[in-house]
Amino acid sequence: MPYTPELKELIKTVERTRPERVARKRDGGEFAMMSLDERQAILERYHPDHRGQGRRPLRVGANKGYAIPDEFADLFEARSRVEPDVVDLSAADIETDVLVIGAGGAGTAAALLAEEQGASVVIATKLRHGDANTMMAEGGIQAATKTEKDSPYFHYLDVIGGGHFKSTPELVRTLVTQAPDVLSWLEDLGMMFDKEPDGRMNSIHGGGTSRKRMHSAGDVTGMEIMRTIRDEARNRGKITVVEFVPAVELLLDETGRCGGALFYNLDTEEYFVVKAAATVLAAGGSGRLHIQGFMTTNHYGATGDGLVIGYRAGVEVCYLHTVQYHPTGSVFPEQTEGLLITEKFRGAGANLVNVNGEQFVNEREPRDVESAACIRECLDRALGVATPTGKLGVWLDSPMIDQLSGKGTVRREFPEPERDDYAVALPDGEAVEGFTALTPEGEKEYKRARIVAIARQENEIRFSVHCLAIIADENERDALIKKYRQTFIEYGQHADLAPGIPEWESIVNFCLITSRKEADDILAIAQSRAPLVADEVLDGISFFRYDLSGDANSGSDREPVTSDAASAEPDTT
Ligand SMILES: Cc1cc2nc3c(=O)[nH]c(=O)nc-3n(C[C@H](O)[C@H](O)[C@H](O)COP(=O)(O)OP(=O)(O)OC[C@H]3O[C@@H](n4cnc5c(N)ncnc54)[C@H](O)[C@@H]3O)c2cc1C
Repeated sequence: MPYTPELKELIKTVERTRPERVARKRDGGEFAMMSLDERQAILERYHPDHRGQGRRPLRVGANKGYAIPDEFADLFEARSRVEPDVVDLSAADIETDVLVIGAGGAGTAAALLAEEQGASVVIATKLRHGDANTMMAEGGIQAATKTEKDSPYFHYLDVIGGGHFKSTPELVRTLVTQAPDVLSWLEDLGMMFDKEPDGRMNSIHGGGTSRKRMHSAGDVTGMEIMRTIRDEARNRGKITVVEFVPAVELLLDETGRCGGALFYNLDTEEYFVVKAAATVLAAGGSGRLHIQGFMTTNHYGATGDGLVIGYRAGVEVCYLHTVQYHPTGSVFPEQTEGLLITEKFRGAGANLVNVNGEQFVNEREPRDVESAACIRECLDRALGVATPTGKLGVWLDSPMIDQLSGKGTVRREFPEPERDDYAVALPDGEAVEGFTALTPEGEKEYKRARIVAIARQENEIRFSVHCLAIIADENERDALIKKYRQTFIEYGQHADLAPGIPEWESIVNFCLITSRKEADDILAIAQSRAPLVADEVLDGISFFRYDLSGDANSGSDREPVTSDAASAEPDTT
């Protein structure tokens, strides 16, 4: 759904107050930071963690009595999905020195370090290697690398303060002292950090920081980390990666030590056993449990599996009474709900403002304080911005950044490819092989997808697509059909390219939204296999049509173009 006239009117209010806010910032003026007492007060009143709702004491296990969100408690108290009689534990299917469960940043890094110590390693993961929250991290990594102004000491103080003095000192100490070395390690492996012209690392402020120490790779920092360490792991001889195999239970030996895990193969639908001298549980987070019904920025695989299987094996859990509610994500358009807007925007100076265009919190408060302030603005002060879909949000005034730091800064500093462009690929016609898409049920690999046309539009949905590709779910799909139907119909009539297809709608039933990079790949494949017969721009969308009916692509398993929408279903593996 595009911005409505009402929203456009409200944007004008933000534009009216912007010059004053920009001028204040230029003069070094800041919206006052809260005192520690003020932070505590706003957290207790508005932050979901502090309001004591939606949680209950665990009735079983190592943390019996510990009150955690209902969503966790339900899973921790549930029965195993494994029927003991169905599973044969008498022999191991795979044996290894180190088993790593999960193939995000933590799992892959652990595998590399274990391999460096001479161990044989198996990484076993639920989806593909790198389908993980790590891939989605945007803003950057904090590390005190600029020793002339910063040090692990200042970093330590910021973390302890940001954690309201409740963090575990030993863990914070390890984090701040090792962070600079970890950045060097990543760089040595080939990670491309943003750099100053003199070759030094670029760094900016993050939430709750007293020094500029956030290091990034555009606003796709996690993707760059994952690219680097996944390549490395794939190229090391003693690391084996097994994909699409969720761990469903940890296995304990007769002394109670973990001796591996039981996995479920999503392809063959069979259980199998991995026996290991050491097991690393790195199965990531739990945002997809939607604690207290909030939207999430998390990857589809983040369903708390590691926590559950660990708890079932007797491991104590900690910190589950706290959940990070990230302050900035998209609330409109509807299909972008929950997608993260990186903290880097606030670090670069973008204000959070209410419906009256007034700034209501300093943009560099710690995240929980920032989130609590947004909730207060919407619920208590009733100064939120109502979306056409009945939700409330606040504005993040990102155009300020160009005004503060020069035209083109946003485009340069936030070069996330998906932000500006997306493509709609319609199934029919050419077969694209080895195609991967992230569906509402998780990531799926398609042997073939068929394309009749590729449509691309610039600057329409911001922050829309974060991962490789998304097959629209019911709502998104409907919104897209609604939005583009007229254009599809016009295009079909205009170019007479849809003989026999009663309505374009009927072939939009497998609608794929993908990143620009993916769209370019699709286009390249189409271009290499068939002649271009139409190249149109309608309603700002570029359409490409390839003649797929001939046999220009000899040797391929391509089928002739068909108007039968049913045959447009992709083959899934
Ligand atoms: C949108 C977003 C932006 C972020 N931005 C930043 C940022 O700028 N800076 C920052 O420091 N942090 C950021 N974070 C947080 C950061 O990305 C995570 O804390 C970190 O990547 C977690 O790494 P991980 O390896 O523990 O988990 P993940 O990267 O999520 O990896 C978990 C792995 O376990 C697998 N898995 C799950 N269940 C099972 C199972 N049952 N069996 C086998 N495998 C399983 C998953 O498929 C996945 O491969 C961001 C997070 C999100 C969601």
